[in-house]
Amino acid sequence: MTATLAARPDTTLDHAWAVLEAVPDPEIPVVSIRELGILRDVRRAADGVLEVVITPTYSGCPAMSQIAEDVGLALDAAGFTPHRIATVLAPAWTTDWITVEAREKLRAYGIAPPTGNCTSDAGAPVEKVVRFMPRPMAAPTCPRCGSAHTERLAQFGSTACKALYRCIDCREPFDYFKPY
Ligand SMILES: [Zn+2]
Repeated sequence: MTATLAARPDTTLDHAWAVLEAVPDPEIPVVSIRELGILRDVRRAADGVLEVVITPTYSGCPAMSQIAEDVGLALDAAGFTPHRIATVLAPAWTTDWITVEAREKLRAYGIAPPTGNCTSDAGAPVEKVVRFMPRPMAAPTCPRCGSAHTERLAQFGSTACKALYRCIDCREPFDYFKPY
């Protein structure tokens, strides 16, 4: 039944991408799941069903079921049925996938974006799926005043993905999106 469709460029996929690019992250609504690098692919599965590939920010991230639900609702609302959501764990998500635009949005929102490039880290990449060990990292600059004089108050901020910092100059606490 879908054989005739397969011969033509699948504009449905472009439309689905456009719909999903508007889906915000449930924890940080100023950025979309595409900008965070969670939305990996929108494709046509072998059986013809529209398939959306998402990769969790880390194993067991509590926001993932919410994200899958939001993706499903957005596709339903746009008339994309049937569809399925595939969760892919490898390659593991890294903060390197966060777009430049999203980093600026995070900063404007009061969250210091991840610094540095974690792939240059000495550790093997396969070990970063779940790593809660503190890693040596440059202190983030304050998202409010830009000061580099910041100190870490807690390893975990509002979520496990973030650490709680405080600016020594303007004295405001802020979340830091930890690189990994
Ligand atoms: Zn500050």
